[in-house]
Amino acid sequence: MPDWRERAHRVVQDFIAPLATSIDRTHTVPRSIGKRLAEEGFFGLAIPTEYGGAAASAQDIAGVLEEIAFGSLSVATDLAVHLSVASAPIARWGTSEQKERWLPAMARGECLGAFALTEPGVGSDAQHLTTRYAREGDQVRLDGSKIFITNGGAARIVLVFATRDPDLEAKGISCFLVEHGTPGFSVTKRLEKLGLLGSETTELLFDGCRVEGSSMLGPEGRGFEIAMTALEGGRVGISATSLGVARAALALLSARVRMGSEDWRKSVLARAHVSVEAASALVDRAAKLKDAGKDYGLAASAAKLFCSQVAFDVARRAYDFTVELSTDPDERAAAECVFRDARVLTIVEGTTEIQELILGRKLSAPRAR
Ligand SMILES: Cc1cc2nc3c(=O)[nH]c(=O)nc-3n(C[C@H](O)[C@H](O)[C@H](O)COP(=O)(O)OP(=O)(O)OC[C@H]3O[C@@H](n4cnc5c(N)ncnc54)[C@H](O)[C@@H]3O)c2cc1C
Repeated sequence: MPDWRERAHRVVQDFIAPLATSIDRTHTVPRSIGKRLAEEGFFGLAIPTEYGGAAASAQDIAGVLEEIAFGSLSVATDLAVHLSVASAPIARWGTSEQKERWLPAMARGECLGAFALTEPGVGSDAQHLTTRYAREGDQVRLDGSKIFITNGGAARIVLVFATRDPDLEAKGISCFLVEHGTPGFSVTKRLEKLGLLGSETTELLFDGCRVEGSSMLGPEGRGFEIAMTALEGGRVGISATSLGVARAALALLSARVRMGSEDWRKSVLARAHVSVEAASALVDRAAKLKDAGKDYGLAASAAKLFCSQVAFDVARRAYDFTVELSTDPDERAAAECVFRDARVLTIVEGTTEIQELILGRKLSAPRAR
């Protein structure tokens, strides 16, 4: 069995970390990184072996994402989306034809995946989608727009969530596999952001976009369930990327604390260290429950809530100390990048407030332990 984490660690040291500042400055992940990730087999981690993937465990996938996020959150985010909310749902819900068509190319890294749920007026409240679908003979027509879609421009396959009737709320939603280049489907904008600058975040338009009826993923009316189960898996991945960012920030913080002698700075470092260790335990627990086939929703939300906050808090401290103590432009650029990047972690795969709602509901349910 390959030691996936160790492989990711080496790729980051040799390849990604030296390019991290340039990824942030140029807003681009060089193609050579995608090529290297493909050679390592990372794009196939969530894909069954019969379709050319590695069928890696959630613990292994978390290890890879944590290591890559230590080097660059942009690279890790693009990979996490491809793994958790694009290839994993196709592997779980796809027909044999859909799996044969998409998964081998996704495993080889020749076909990047994207997940299009969020709309300009619909984020956390995902039951109220306005992107519509209507059957037209053997085809389905899609109309509407999506926003904040990671990999939206580079992906060859996009999971698009649409409703046949907004009044049906969750029950009206279905999911479609839409290929890039389908007439009526366009990428209208790459969005400007505070951080995560190497990862493209896009707006997509579906204007009379016709796809075959056979491109529906999973049963009709189960799209909301597909989205929610994908996001639950995605939370383990985002927790792991948060942990990677927190570790990167901790390394910057300890380097700055070593520069000074004040004890209060050492206390800040100590607190950050404990938080990162606790975050690591939560990621581990969620991934282990997922691997054991147990209900991991509570653990995934707890990990997502805590790890994203730890990443943000440690990154803030690392940034403050660096600005205060270092005049080295490279050190300042690294601290600034980690600080700006960390912000997004509390938003994606369900915001902090949404994790609190999920946790509160699960914990107050009659059989919760
Ligand atoms: C960089 C980036 C990449 C992304 N990638 C993708 C992607 O690939 N695919 C995709 O579909 N989406 C993606 N998203 C969208 C992301 O999932 C949404 O931004 C997120 O779900 C929040 O939705 P919203 O932005 O509409 O905020 P809103 O839902 O409008 O929330 C605004 C604020 O209100 C709070 N809030 C909302 N509802 C409640 C409530 N009931 N109780 C308490 N507080 C509440 C939220 O926590 C938040 O603080 C991405 C976003 C970003 C920033």
